[in-house]
Amino acid sequence: MSDPETGPEPPAADRRPRIAAAVAAAVLFAGVGAVLAVSTPWQPLPGDVPGGRARPDPALDFTPAEIARSRAFDHALTPPAYTGLAVGLLVVFGLGFTPLGARLLGWTTARVRRWPLRVAAAAIVLTTLLRLIGLPFDAWSEAVLRRYGLSTQSWGAWLGDQARSLAVTWVIWTIALLLLYALLRRFPRYWWAGAAAGAFVLVTVVSFAYPVVVEPVFNKFEPLPAGRLRTDLLAMADRDGVPVKDVLVADASRRTTALNAYVSGFGSTRRIVVYDTLLKSPRPQIESIVAHELGHAEHQDVLWGTLIGALGVSGGVCLLYLLASSPRVLRRAGVGARAPGERGSGAADPRAVALLLALVTAGTTVSGPVQNLVSRHIEARADAHALDLTRDPGTFATMQHALSVRNISDLSPDVLERLLWSTHPSGPERIAMARDWARMHRAAVPPPLAGR
Ligand SMILES: [Zn+2]
Repeated sequence: MSDPETGPEPPAADRRPRIAAAVAAAVLFAGVGAVLAVSTPWQPLPGDVPGGRARPDPALDFTPAEIARSRAFDHALTPPAYTGLAVGLLVVFGLGFTPLGARLLGWTTARVRRWPLRVAAAAIVLTTLLRLIGLPFDAWSEAVLRRYGLSTQSWGAWLGDQARSLAVTWVIWTIALLLLYALLRRFPRYWWAGAAAGAFVLVTVVSFAYPVVVEPVFNKFEPLPAGRLRTDLLAMADRDGVPVKDVLVADASRRTTALNAYVSGFGSTRRIVVYDTLLKSPRPQIESIVAHELGHAEHQDVLWGTLIGALGVSGGVCLLYLLASSPRVLRRAGVGARAPGERGSGAADPRAVALLLALVTAGTTVSGPVQNLVSRHIEARADAHALDLTRDPGTFATMQHALSVRNISDLSPDVLERLLWSTHPSGPERIAMARDWARMHRAAVPPPLAGR
């Protein structure tokens, strides 16, 4: 069948790269599925619990006032979170899956002649536009955080953060798109193979370099000062058999009153970071949190996450090729199909950046709930590790209670909230696990914490 806009169906020879890309995508996504199936701790606390597993129950450990405050905070954050998400998706898809984005980029980059500059300009125009559209919703959320005393930032400092985060986005998108377009123009039929391999390397490099390149853009990190806490934490890491050179303290208090800690990087860039807000907590509670982070380090969670991310992004690139070389998709995006042997049209047209951004956003939106599901299991395993290491479920439960109250966590997230935002089990779920652990190990079961 012939189509006046796209020309005849591609000849049989042109179908070969599409079949190869489809096979590669299937193999890579099967790899993601296999690694996820094998590496995800689907049973974070294996074994039988005498009397059955404890049910998470906010009312057991949180006072009515704490529960009401958590609900009110959740209700205040819901409108900016959902409308911001919906508006953001609407704009990205509206620009990418209609000719609007191509037209916008056509106008804004009309004066730019060389393709690398046009691609960079397109990346900067689109990411800036999206950030600006998201800004009112983020400011709305920030105002809620401020009202509840969670944010310690001035509006000027907050805007500075937004600008810094936009700059990081520019750098990452510009580099990724320039590499992609170089391949796309050089190898119009098989660019996806090089792009998939390049994406694998890029995800790995970014994950490795993130703690030393990106994190310092936002925070200052100092080694935990010498003293009893430092000695105890390093001794605990040693006892755990996890080589930890240092525990770093981030100056998070200039932004937030929330308590947190994390592990990032792998190999020589791996680091355990605690928020300075945490340092005023009782020492056993800090140990409990660091023991959780040691669980991530011991199970190489960042490394596995990087491998899964790299495989997933590579598979996504093959899928991107299949969609972005489809005449129908290109026509919808207003960039037209590539004529055989012609460069700079179809997906190789810098105006197709809007389409690419929309396809990438669709991919990350679809994979988000899966990532959250896996993350919750990995976090639960790190909790189990903390309990095994400290053998102190009472302190663990008290610490989780303090964490939930201080961070005004959602104590009973609904299905949609779990799909979209919950990277960790809820506070009541984590406390219930401490009780399970105590029963399994015949330790003192943490008593109800409400009102203590
Ligand atoms: Zn964790």
